[in-house]
Amino acid sequence: MPPDCAFNGAQVMIPPWFTAQMARMADMKNPPMKWYADGRPASDPDICLRMWWEGMHDMPQAAVEAAVTYAIPRREWFPRPVELREDADVAAPRPAWREIEPEPLPESVVLGTLPTGARVVALSRYEAECPDCGDTGFAPAGERTVRRCGCWATNSVLIRKRESQRKYAEAKSR
Ligand SMILES: [Zn+2]
Repeated sequence: MPPDCAFNGAQVMIPPWFTAQMARMADMKNPPMKWYADGRPASDPDICLRMWWEGMHDMPQAAVEAAVTYAIPRREWFPRPVELREDADVAAPRPAWREIEPEPLPESVVLGTLPTGARVVALSRYEAECPDCGDTGFAPAGERTVRRCGCWATNSVLIRKRESQRKYAEAKSR
């Protein structure tokens, strides 16, 4: 019996969590497959969602969930992978890279002038823990490339940043 959906092709194993996330959008216009009202697949997701899985299989579960949460109040038509990837980018949190309060300078300091003529002024001082990478975790290696900085494992700013990203991913996957 042909599957009850528009897509055909090689069958792949799609994890149930992915199908469940897609099911949240079942009532949008033109969904790629059918679901029962309780969210159980009424078509074969391994066939019907093949393109969605192919286009999104590298995304963490939390990112897919955030993309769907973003899409539901904003989209009318069931989004394609490219649209869900855009939604994931927009929905992604901007973690606080630096939680240290910068120290205000007694007077603003002019650092230079942009080609547009605008002056760049420093109002506060931030002392990077690592002078090699400025606490970004990446240090220059040649003219056009960067390398992971040697401080990666020990820099407390980077450790806090990774910790807050991990906490966010955990909270989202609950
Ligand atoms: Zn560093």
